[in-house]
Amino acid sequence: MVVCTFCGKEITYGRGIKFVKKDGRVFDFCATKCEKNLLKHHRKPAKFKWTVDGRKKDSKRINKND
Ligand SMILES: [Zn+2]
Repeated sequence: MVVCTFCGKEITYGRGIKFVKKDGRVFDFCATKCEKNLLKHHRKPAKFKWTVDGRKKDSKRINKND
């Protein structure tokens, strides 16, 4: 199954957006929210709690405090 490049969520067949850059890199997005955050605003997924990377980073921070 295809996974969203930005948030890491699994994309159901027939849904989502596939974006190919001029240099050949392929991006899969579950929603326009993820597409705009990465391509338009150049944001990093680790900065957001609603992404898989962000949740991983947040859990590490919590473990450090304990
Ligand atoms: Zn997504």
